[in-house]
Amino acid sequence: MNIILLGPPGAGKGTQAGHLVASRDMIQLSTGDMLRAAKTSGTEMGKRVAEVMDRGELVTDEIVIGLIREQLEGDKKGGFIFDGFPRTLAQADALEALLKEFGEKLDAVVEMQVNDEVLVERIVGRAADAVAAGGTARADDNEESLKIRLMEYYKKTSPLIGYYHAKGNLVSVNGLASIEDVQAEIASVLG
Ligand code: AMP
Repeated sequence: MNIILLGPPGAGKGTQAGHLVASRDMIQLSTGDMLRAAKTSGTEMGKRVAEVMDRGELVTDEIVIGLIREQLEGDKKGGFIFDGFPRTLAQADALEALLKEFGEKLDAVVEMQVNDEVLVERIVGRAADAVAAGGTARADDNEESLKIRLMEYYKKTSPLIGYYHAKGNLVSVNGLASIEDVQAEIASVLG
């Protein structure tokens, strides 16, 4: 089964993807994690995208489509969870073409519904927790970048909700519920 987790920053996509990896042996493909890894390891691409990411803007479609393509070439285990990808209509079209090329299909797009106040609270909390644990917060987990990340989401990513609804792939879950309840709701919609 191949699914997309769709929702704004802080909706809980990463948390729920982690659970699906453990419970269904699926593979989490998080373009955000891949880009952060490229940034940390100092690759040319990582250097190029660092500033854009830290500001909270989207990196180019070509870069993320390339990252996803590489992953689709590997083992697919229980299927792919696309986490934070696609984020634009161009990426959605590219994903459709890629899945076709690899003989795969999209089974569901799970939209995680939340509201902005909760997102800001969660992200500011995530940054504080990281610091309290002796680490450092994500460079884009601050109020200024978050504002831009939310704007990017509404402008470029939220149109995907209508797009996948029209295609008949969309299911929506209440992302405001507890982690366990969201897990249960996703399990029931995926069957
Ligand atoms: P995330 O961890 O999903 O919140 O992503 C962190 C940042 O990585 C985003 O704010 C973007 O700068 C970049 N990014 C991640 N995924 C994508 C994508 N599919 N398209 C463009 N930029 C992305």
